Amino acid sequence: MSKIIIIGAGGVGNVVAHKCAQSSNIFSEIILASRTLEKCLAIAQSVKDKTGKSIKCIRLDADDVTTTTKLLENEKPDLLINVALPYQDLNLMDACLNAKVDYLDTANYEPPNEAKFEYKWQWDYEERFKKAGLTALLGSGFDPGVTNVFCAYAQKHYFDSIETIDILDANAGDHGYPFATNFNPEINIREITQKGRYWKEGKWIEVAPMSIHREYNFPEIGKKNAYLLYHEELESLSKNIPNLKKIRFWMTFSEQYLLHLEVLQNVGMTSIKPINVKGIQIQPIEFLKSVLPDPATLGEKTKGKTCIGCDISGLKDGNKKRIFIYNVSDHQKCYAEVLSQAISYTTGVPARIGAEMILNKKWRKPGVWNMEEMDPDPFMESLNKYGIPWNVISLKPK
Ligand code: NDP
Repeated sequence: MSKIIIIGAGGVGNVVAHKCAQSSNIFSEIILASRTLEKCLAIAQSVKDKTGKSIKCIRLDADDVTTTTKLLENEKPDLLINVALPYQDLNLMDACLNAKVDYLDTANYEPPNEAKFEYKWQWDYEERFKKAGLTALLGSGFDPGVTNVFCAYAQKHYFDSIETIDILDANAGDHGYPFATNFNPEINIREITQKGRYWKEGKWIEVAPMSIHREYNFPEIGKKNAYLLYHEELESLSKNIPNLKKIRFWMTFSEQYLLHLEVLQNVGMTSIKPINVKGIQIQPIEFLKSVLPDPATLGEKTKGKTCIGCDISGLKDGNKKRIFIYNVSDHQKCYAEVLSQAISYTTGVPARIGAEMILNKKWRKPGVWNMEEMDPDPFMESLNKYGIPWNVISLKPK
């Protein structure tokens, strides 16, 4: 029996609220706090209709550390689940330290005015969380999140040593719009317009954005072009998987998506540098976000499947071995269950599972942790139980 506070009432917040409410034996009290109270109330109504459970809604600016600290001190939750935006990570970690509450998020910190993300800022909290006896679990979404746990599971059960990892993220969903992003457009576009980067033999190799791609045959989806991107789990996995020689991240995009993105970039609409419009300072990307479809509204229209997994090579008993460990999710099935498409679903379910792992103490240990640093087995078991079934296939070693 535990009390949790979910921060952020977007696509992912909606899934976390529904999935936690489905297990009220574990999450007995749920608070949903976000910037726009109306969004919290709409989610609470849907949760009530679907599960019969009431959740408490609070308007909160999570960038205000003092107010958030007071809220946590008053409510005394056992855990804070941060599914607001990456900009809030450090402020919420500070509030958790002040009020002595465990912390979980799904994306690493990004400064609002710099298109850059890395774990350094959050890893710097290690000593403070350890000293306070608090757990901070970073990146408990799908990628990062499940992908990190897939690697830890492969390391534990399939390999003596892992040599290469290719994380592959395919979305074959179609929402019918010429251009829309499946999660927060600002975060999504910032992620894919930066330079590609991968890690090889201790060094980071940088390439022009979207300049490397290859065709990959995804289970249940078929052949798709996947583009090499930098993604945050590369930073922690390159550090935490021993003997690793190379790790890369790939994501599929349709030609239509790439064409729109190129035009938007060429005209300056993806820039985060504020411009003066009739005396008002506006970030072009923020303006773009406000004209694009809200990802939370895409669920009903999106049809098709996602396939995300890790193509892992290495050695077992002296022999070369290669596996693909993956999940396939169906957008419409996710929508029928919690009124969200598969991208939000496959992020919200791991956040719910990570929360349970902290609350039941299987993953509760003071400090700041990435997912692959924990025992993967109970998490992998829960994926099958709570809506993200996974599979492992053998591939021909390279
Ligand atoms: P949305 O934009 O749909 O939702 C974000 C929510 O956070 C909104 O409700 C927003 O409020 C709220 N919010 C923003 N700023 C504040 C603030 N200062 N105080 C309080 N609330 C605030 O995003 P998603 O739900 O798609 O994504 C949520 C998180 O999940 C992001 O960090 C994203 O990067 C991460 N993610 C991780 C993935 C993974 O696999 N690891 C995959 C997909 C997403 P308002 O409604 O007022 O705008």
